[in-house]
Amino acid sequence: MLSSRNKLTRYAAAGMMMALASVAHAQTSALQCARLVDVKTLAVLPERTIVVEGKRIARIESGYTAPQGAAVVDLKQHTCMPGLIDLHVHLGSELSPTSTVESMGFNPPDYAIRAVANAEKTLMAGFTSIRELGAAPGVSVAVRDGINRGIVKGPRIQAAGGVGSTGGHGDPANGLRAELAATPSLERNIGNGPAEVTKLVRQRYRDRFDLIKIATTGGVLSLARSGDAPLLSDEELAAIVKTARDYGMPVTAHAHGAEGMKRAIRAGVQTIEHGTYLDEEGMRLMKEKGTWLVPTISAGRYVAERAKQAGFFQEIVRVKAATIGPEIQGMFARAYKAGVKIAFGTDQGVAPHGDNAKEFQYMVEAGMPPLEAIRAATLNGATVMGLEKDLGTIESGKLADIVAVSGDPVKDITNMMKMAMVMKDGVVYKRP
Ligand SMILES: [Zn+2]
Repeated sequence: MLSSRNKLTRYAAAGMMMALASVAHAQTSALQCARLVDVKTLAVLPERTIVVEGKRIARIESGYTAPQGAAVVDLKQHTCMPGLIDLHVHLGSELSPTSTVESMGFNPPDYAIRAVANAEKTLMAGFTSIRELGAAPGVSVAVRDGINRGIVKGPRIQAAGGVGSTGGHGDPANGLRAELAATPSLERNIGNGPAEVTKLVRQRYRDRFDLIKIATTGGVLSLARSGDAPLLSDEELAAIVKTARDYGMPVTAHAHGAEGMKRAIRAGVQTIEHGTYLDEEGMRLMKEKGTWLVPTISAGRYVAERAKQAGFFQEIVRVKAATIGPEIQGMFARAYKAGVKIAFGTDQGVAPHGDNAKEFQYMVEAGMPPLEAIRAATLNGATVMGLEKDLGTIESGKLADIVAVSGDPVKDITNMMKMAMVMKDGVVYKRP
């Protein structure tokens, strides 16, 4: 990449090929930023210009500059930062009082069309990379590939394939009458015992997923009684993590209850999603093992609010939403103080797509300084995704995923909701 671009610049400079020169210039942008967030040093640098050539960041200059032929993007009222990363999104989901009824009639293509629209909303909110942690069969992989081919607009996606146990969070047969629950295709992601879950991990690899998502405890939205019961044995967890490792797939664990969470941490999962009843022993284990917490305060706050609305949830879900939902923000505050590694994730699809940046406000409310919250959604997200060499900071040579918000988010974190400019891979998708 670098060498071919250098070659182009040399030809252009020598004036050997005027046509090539204009192509090279057309690909150069100069983003003139009032403020630039350095997420490594947690500093805000005043008046910087980011020069982008093709897909990558060429250099950062002091003051407002404009290389000859560059397309200038005026961000003199804005704060520039790396493209945001949400590690927990469900593009096909839109929680509503009719979600359950809808699922009786929806086919995967119905979810896929919805996911395409939500992918664009997510990108326009400044989220240039996401992990998709669960959708109808085939949906997240197809949307990921469609975005990569340039057919539709959306963030860079890593898609997770589910592996779960009978009756667990993610078992689609939960709550169905007997003959529906016996539908063979519903068993697609469900296995019991090390041999079966090993096979499921291999099937998810065959299905072209990037990572494995497991549910080690109950969940709020599943039509099952417990939100915190452990759902996988130590033997099953060991088999899942070991097999996933063979294929280079990290494992992420949905977890509310302390026991299931600790089993997952000990087994070597990369991230804990939600983490509601994380206790002191769990925090110590996470620090010891280098496990990341993806708190999803947005989802907790949203379901707690909806639980007050009569008829929004079925009763079996409402009780869990009202109990578990309000606990997440307080747990986040304790985990942050204790020094657990935290990366940004919302569980969007529970709360509305496009509102992902509200999570920043919730993190800051709970005691995390604004610049650390921004680092959780940039450098930390890129590190979890294994993309830190290319993404997560604004440095020369990295991919040009750059966003800008109106005003200064350090003074008022709700400015993160005022997304004004979005660039992904050097292409501007949203202009101020
Ligand atoms: Zn989720």
